[in-house]
Amino acid sequence: MRKNIVAGNWKMNKTLQEGIVLAKELNEALANEKPKCDVIICTPFIHLASITPLVDPNKIGVGAENCADKESGAFTGEVSAAMVASTGAKYVILGHSERRAYYGENVEILKSKVKLALANGLIPIFCVGEVLAEREANKQNVVVSAQLESVFDLSVEDFSKLILAYEPVWAIGTGKTATPAQAEEIHAFIRSAVAKRYGKAIAENTSILYGGSCKATNAKELFANPDVDGGLIGGAALKADSFKGIIDAFNA
Ligand code: PEP
Repeated sequence: MRKNIVAGNWKMNKTLQEGIVLAKELNEALANEKPKCDVIICTPFIHLASITPLVDPNKIGVGAENCADKESGAFTGEVSAAMVASTGAKYVILGHSERRAYYGENVEILKSKVKLALANGLIPIFCVGEVLAEREANKQNVVVSAQLESVFDLSVEDFSKLILAYEPVWAIGTGKTATPAQAEEIHAFIRSAVAKRYGKAIAENTSILYGGSCKATNAKELFANPDVDGGLIGGAALKADSFKGIIDAFNA
């Protein structure tokens, strides 16, 4: 079944102590209610083992922001999917535009990461999205289609475990949000691409999140679109009250 999801991406923010405080605050904020969406927090690697036991697993899932494209071995500084899973984390963000832009992650590297994540029982939150020049040239569908190639060679069974996130790069951390109409248009396109590859039933069951300057004030409007199933949240996930405000968009 397609799920509504609000996932936070902490990026390279918060010391371990600060992260623990934030996770506890969020857990507390959700203590007396059942959120009407799945809630996920994706944290720096070193926070995972400390934070997973602190949150109610029935309300908050924990994920990493990345994992290695190799299984194990002499890859100094890398963190494998198996290591992420061993902390109790259940999710991993893959293909974030910052990883693509600053660390050269391409279709092939991301194919390996997605496969290793799935092989280790993690659910990838797989991100796609165009830069401003591509949007201005009306190339967003072509760009997103090419990025989806990293996941379109998966079996139906594996693909159906994924969460997709559309994140226009021009909206990430810029305060500039896609309009609800822009978001719906490309989310519908992504769903149609999934339907073409895996069939309508799988496409209908795939959660596609929007990311890019999403906050409590615009979340409700964005999530009201039929093909927008929630959000991947950066800046507004760094405070419990602003993140909770976005989760509440599904209550309103
Ligand atoms: C992100 O980086 O995934 C993101 C959506 O960031 P922000 O919400 O800060 O634009």
